[in-house]
Amino acid sequence: MTILVTGAAGFIGMQVADRLLEDGRAVIGIDNMNDYYAVSLKQDRIADLSRRHGKLFTFTELDFADMGALKDALTDHPVEAIIHLGAQAGVRYSLINPHAYVRSNLAGHVNMLELARERRVRHLVYASSSSVYGGNDILPFRVEDRADHPVSLYAATKRADELMSETYAHLFRVPMTGLRFFTVYGPWGRPDMAMWIFTSKILAGEPIPVFNHGRMQRDFTYIDDIVTGVIACLDNAPHDDGAVKAGGSRAPHRLYNIGNNRPEELMHLIALLEEACGRKAQMDFQPMQPGDVPATYADISAIARDVGFAPATGIELGVPRFVSWYRDYHGIGK
Ligand code: NAD
Repeated sequence: MTILVTGAAGFIGMQVADRLLEDGRAVIGIDNMNDYYAVSLKQDRIADLSRRHGKLFTFTELDFADMGALKDALTDHPVEAIIHLGAQAGVRYSLINPHAYVRSNLAGHVNMLELARERRVRHLVYASSSSVYGGNDILPFRVEDRADHPVSLYAATKRADELMSETYAHLFRVPMTGLRFFTVYGPWGRPDMAMWIFTSKILAGEPIPVFNHGRMQRDFTYIDDIVTGVIACLDNAPHDDGAVKAGGSRAPHRLYNIGNNRPEELMHLIALLEEACGRKAQMDFQPMQPGDVPATYADISAIARDVGFAPATGIELGVPRFVSWYRDYHGIGK
């Protein structure tokens, strides 16, 4: 039996696939290799997985918003479970190209729900985002808190994914888990995210854009912790006991925050990057960007209680690891 990983050429998808393969589990990865950021990085991730894992790993390039293509590609694959990490990510880009989010995150998500229903998979684990909390100013964000005021279209599509998943889990009794990720970083990370942009500019001696004049807090979560949490959730599907849970749901559907549970000042991150890069940053202070939120902070008590999630990597450890990977990947000497 095979685990389907969508967004397998993406940052988190590649790393989750890698761990599953290391554990000897067969993975079929799909990704449309879009050019939201460097396609060469996506190709390198797939090449790395293929080189190290051989036949256990199958990759197909396709757009999962196209249901026909999705079904064709999976005809000969008995899919046991789905880890749905493919999406149009990024808050700021959702103000520029909203239709990319509608296609991948809404139409594409419904296709994944339909697939889960048709194949009667044992579990669908999918990516949501801390951005669903919008500008909630009561910290930490608890998964029971309201998430009805998304401040970007990206966040709105992720919240819609949660609601559509609840409906499908209720109607068709497919166990599902939605994970609200909090600023994930680490090796093979994303070039559109602050940590990558800051690192590249500090190393090049260029100014870094520091939004909200540096008064931002983010709950930075290291990729290895995220991967451990995703797989722990995969292997602990919610029971379909039909009982009414807090909030009134009868569906075998859970939502969890998955974060580091430690909000960090942006200026502390920059100081750690300066140390790891061995250079001072030039800072270009700018106002808060539309769609952004001032702070994120995950209450992780639910995922800790249910699957034993316990993040082990603070940014003091994780930032130097990322910078070291970044230098190696780009062939930049110390
Ligand atoms: P990523 O952009 O690196 O990976 C997503 C992948 O999905 C990309 O490789 C992209 O090509 C693929 N994709 C997009 N639309 C597709 C489609 N229609 N068909 C097939 N493939 C498609 O992003 P990531 O950081 O790995 O994020 C993984 C998931 O986690 C996403 O759902 C994202 O919204 C969510 N998330 C990530 C973070 C983070 O900090 N990285 C935070 C919150 C939520």
